[in-house]
Amino acid sequence: MKQLHQIEKMKRGLRASHVILTAFVTLSTTLAFASHQSQPTPDVIFIGQFLTLDPEHPQVEAMAVSAGRIVALGSKAEVEALAAKATRRIHISGVALPGFADAHIHPELLGEQLDRLNLRGLTKAQTLAKVAAAARSAPPGGWILGGGWDQGFWQPATFPTAKELDAVSGDHPVALDRIDWHSIWVNTKVLALAKISDTTSDPEGGQIWRDAAAMPTGILVDNAMALVDGITPKPTHADRDRHIRLALQQFAEWGLTSVHDAGADLEVIGIYKDLLKRGELPVRVYAMALGDLAVRHYLASRPEPDLGSGMLAVRSIKLVLDGALGSRGAEMTEPYSDAPVVHGLQTVNDADLARIVSAARQRGFQVNTHAIGDRAVTRALNAFEKGGVTREERFRIEHASVVTNDDLARFRRLGIVASMQPVFVGEYSRWAEDRVGQSRVHWVLRTRDFLDAGVPLAFGTDYPASDAGSPIATLHCAVTRQGADGEPEAGWYGEQRVDVDTALRMMTAGPAFAAFQEKDLGSLTVGRYADFTVISANPYSVPPNDLRTLTIRMTVVAGRVTFDASKK
Ligand SMILES: [Zn+2]
Repeated sequence: MKQLHQIEKMKRGLRASHVILTAFVTLSTTLAFASHQSQPTPDVIFIGQFLTLDPEHPQVEAMAVSAGRIVALGSKAEVEALAAKATRRIHISGVALPGFADAHIHPELLGEQLDRLNLRGLTKAQTLAKVAAAARSAPPGGWILGGGWDQGFWQPATFPTAKELDAVSGDHPVALDRIDWHSIWVNTKVLALAKISDTTSDPEGGQIWRDAAAMPTGILVDNAMALVDGITPKPTHADRDRHIRLALQQFAEWGLTSVHDAGADLEVIGIYKDLLKRGELPVRVYAMALGDLAVRHYLASRPEPDLGSGMLAVRSIKLVLDGALGSRGAEMTEPYSDAPVVHGLQTVNDADLARIVSAARQRGFQVNTHAIGDRAVTRALNAFEKGGVTREERFRIEHASVVTNDDLARFRRLGIVASMQPVFVGEYSRWAEDRVGQSRVHWVLRTRDFLDAGVPLAFGTDYPASDAGSPIATLHCAVTRQGADGEPEAGWYGEQRVDVDTALRMMTAGPAFAAFQEKDLGSLTVGRYADFTVISANPYSVPPNDLRTLTIRMTVVAGRVTFDASKK
């Protein structure tokens, strides 16, 4: 049978559908005809293996793109037939899927991390050499910040001292976080600037390590680290711009075509707008406005749902209702099982919450509330329900980590989107049972239950406030219920696993819906943006425990290659 596949839904061409479902290597597409006159000339044709996540044509071998959108999908011969003289051809090696999105990530925090000295896996000599090199290139007196050292890898495995840093750092203050962020190694210059001496007492919940003469050695633990936080320089606009760029480039390398920035202030939103103006945004950004200034600014104006062909949107307000489960800051109805008088933190009260929900609705903003503990989730749902929020407004609860059965049903009834992070299973498997106890542990990270209840779901990572920011980790963790490191091998509460197909949809169509972008993003379909991610193998045929070994080959946003592993 001759297959002709020119699908042109955009121009509402006459469609005759004819699905041919065949074996894995061959094509299965929809036959469709569009008038040749209305067919735009492709700027570029991509040739390879595409899994579209569009049930009408699940697999194709070529895609034609014009002005950033998909104009045809089909066999190589059929799509090639549309080429004009100027049409470029790009062959992809690997398996292309709709572009991966992260529905909850923190670009600036990631950029800050990427901008510091990365000391992971280095010996002490290598660490000191890296600091010495940084001291040579830093401006006079400039700070040197870094992190990731672990004395456990050193010979001998003892904690380092300020004096060792002094020998290589000259006039520069140096502050280096340990790999777990629970202690910091500083030089004598920092001890002096922070006025930490033999007479300084340990702060509550913190410790200043001392030698036999009570002099600080240069290691500050937990709350003592705040003594340094207070004196490190605030990042300049140029610093923040650099951090955002570093993060966006990392996202492209991770195969992300779209990210939801879970907390952008006005300055960062301005940086996104500048990058967009210069054509230098490599990833679509759905920014949630966070902080007094940003929230006040937007509630006095209007949403910006589409700046630059879907590259940037500001149409949601972020609120943080409680803390995190690990530090017992998540707000729980009943106290923590391992701290019987602690209920967690309430960072926004009900009255303020109701006021912001109402103001946001009047201006047409979505509200995305961080809520981790069951009490915070209940309060968010109460506010949405009492405020009359409709499902069309797609209000979101970020994390939704501990959710009761009653609230699960309310998510569905009210049409609230759950924005969840499958990579959390790594840390939760280590201590969530201690925090909430046997009777509540089945309320934690209940991905499968949310899907079965028909709640709209979007996956993200919360990186760098989690173990991994790559979408490959999200896929792996959602399917196996292991952490990003593959532990525990049997999976943690494995009944909450989802299959590969579902996980991929929650990483593509899920975030698109949560950002009102489902007409443009989420599957490889004619008329939608040509955003796709090429990975090293077909995830449907990789054993689940090996999903985390998949690698990113290429990332494409609006038909533009933003990352190509073959050119790395
Ligand atoms: Zn977050």
